Amino acid sequence: MHIDILTLFPEMFPGYLNESILKRAQAAGLLHIGLHNLRNYATGKHRITDEPPYGGGGGMVLKPEPIFTAVETIIANLQSPKEERLEIGDWRLPIILLTPQGRPFTQKVAQELAQHERLLLLCGRYEGVDERVRQHLVTDEISIGDFVLTGGELAAMVIVDAVARLIPGVLGAEDAAEEDSHATGLLEGPHYTRPETFRSWSVPEVLRSGHAANIIRWRREQALRRTWQRRPDLLLTAELSEEDRWFLGKLAAGER
Ligand code: SAM
Repeated sequence: MHIDILTLFPEMFPGYLNESILKRAQAAGLLHIGLHNLRNYATGKHRITDEPPYGGGGGMVLKPEPIFTAVETIIANLQSPKEERLEIGDWRLPIILLTPQGRPFTQKVAQELAQHERLLLLCGRYEGVDERVRQHLVTDEISIGDFVLTGGELAAMVIVDAVARLIPGVLGAEDAAEEDSHATGLLEGPHYTRPETFRSWSVPEVLRSGHAANIIRWRREQALRRTWQRRPDLLLTAELSEEDRWFLGKLAAGER
């Protein structure tokens, strides 16, 4: 997968993106990150990228021209895997504006984005971007939560991270993402590692038993219990078996 990121602060990215799993994914050729400095697409002696808002009010707004020029230039240099030209509006190339006003980023959205060969992420700053960017350039708007950050860079890194770990081959088989919280519609249950007893707190017997079927059932029940305790709203949409429903019924009745 190829992810282009347009930002005023490209130097914020390498520290996070060039470590651990994301570093290995890039080294293995599974993930390509293109960092593009918005300032390089601004014209004039001072390469101005932002101006005060029309109508007054505080803060600065990112100008449309450098953003349009940058995106058009990036796209002009891109080819699809089939060597066809990509254009603005092509469903194969989501142009995503990071904004607290966008649709909420969830594991489902990460799974949806992971189906694409390419993504283009636009990071806002200050008061945000000129409305014409939203109206005539971007194809999607995503928020990483109901809070306001100073810029879209952290949001872009969150998306890159969550999407990259869903690319086949990025996680080892043993860390497969299928059982993660939200991937199944439930929260994942607890994990334990060595030592078997730490400060008198022991690892549950079932996990030490080596009985595979019991361990699978115990993990499922722990996931159900945790979701019921912390995020009961998720149970309304999770895929549940008869056995799951029976267990939840027992939980609700206080019998488990
Ligand atoms: N004035 C804007 C508003 O009220 O909607 C907020 C601008 S914010 C200070 C600056 C930039 O940070 C935004 O353009 C966006 O790119 C990014 N940003 C802030 N919060 C975000 C969030 N929750 N999700 C995604 N991006 C966010």
